[in-house]
Amino acid sequence: MFYKLLCEPADLSLLKSLNSRMNLPLKEKQNFLNLKKGYEGEQLFASMLENQSGNWIVLHDLLLECSNNQFQIDFLLLSQKTVYLFEVKTFEGDYYIENDNWYIASTEIKDPLLQLKRSKSLLRRLLQELGSTLVVEAYLVFVNPEFTLYQAPRNQSIIFPTQLNRFLQKLKLIPCTLNQKHTALAEKLVERRLHKSQYERVLTYEYDHLEKGIVCTSCEAFMSLEGNEIICGSCGCKEDVDSAIIRNVSEFNLLFPDMRITTNHIQDWCQVIPSKKTIRRVLMRDFVRLGHGKSSHFVYAIKK
Ligand SMILES: [Zn+2]
Repeated sequence: MFYKLLCEPADLSLLKSLNSRMNLPLKEKQNFLNLKKGYEGEQLFASMLENQSGNWIVLHDLLLECSNNQFQIDFLLLSQKTVYLFEVKTFEGDYYIENDNWYIASTEIKDPLLQLKRSKSLLRRLLQELGSTLVVEAYLVFVNPEFTLYQAPRNQSIIFPTQLNRFLQKLKLIPCTLNQKHTALAEKLVERRLHKSQYERVLTYEYDHLEKGIVCTSCEAFMSLEGNEIICGSCGCKEDVDSAIIRNVSEFNLLFPDMRITTNHIQDWCQVIPSKKTIRRVLMRDFVRLGHGKSSHFVYAIKK
């Protein structure tokens, strides 16, 4: 099973970091919570797919283009004869459908079936262009057990939380032998992947206005140094100093790609590591040093 690992989208990482370090404007806060919820839903679905571990190729988070139309796919599962497209939804609460329109608490929302239909049709065209004859099946997957849809149509493209396990078990029973053609198709799709434009920086933030320190990955509280470990006073989470430094260099670099990675900057960013020697040792070991003396700074090594 060729599996492009699920990794946190950059715009989510960015908003998560800013959320701990400043008061996000309401709109951005909402955007952050939506992205977080969406990603949690995808993680859940990914783990269910992994548990079934069929002989498939699974691709995650593909932004593709066909005839000048961009479309986004949450999960693509390549089996012997069929390509399954999954759009994962984390809707929560009571929704209803009236005259083909979708509502929650009297507010109309975008019809997710229309969106699915569009992606399916564009994917079918793209596969034709790539010379594949595989059939496309598309599904809307609702992963949140707290979701209800009144007046739900008996639409075969919708998978409710109560049906998900059975659906995947059935899928696993379909004989599946993959060959070179399948792998080549997966590779072509990954090659065709467009890179999301970085999070639009409508949101402005400045280094001096952000709270500095090491943020706990579990509970998002600020951590402190105790002995050789970084400890979260709030949830008890522990992290060794080296890994906390590496993680914070990456966060610093994501938020401020134009600022140089230097021992002083990282020390100021982390706040709780008094020893410059320690920071320097980690930077020397895991990064590439450019320049000498006062102008020296570090960059990420290009991994081969
Ligand atoms: Zn914590």
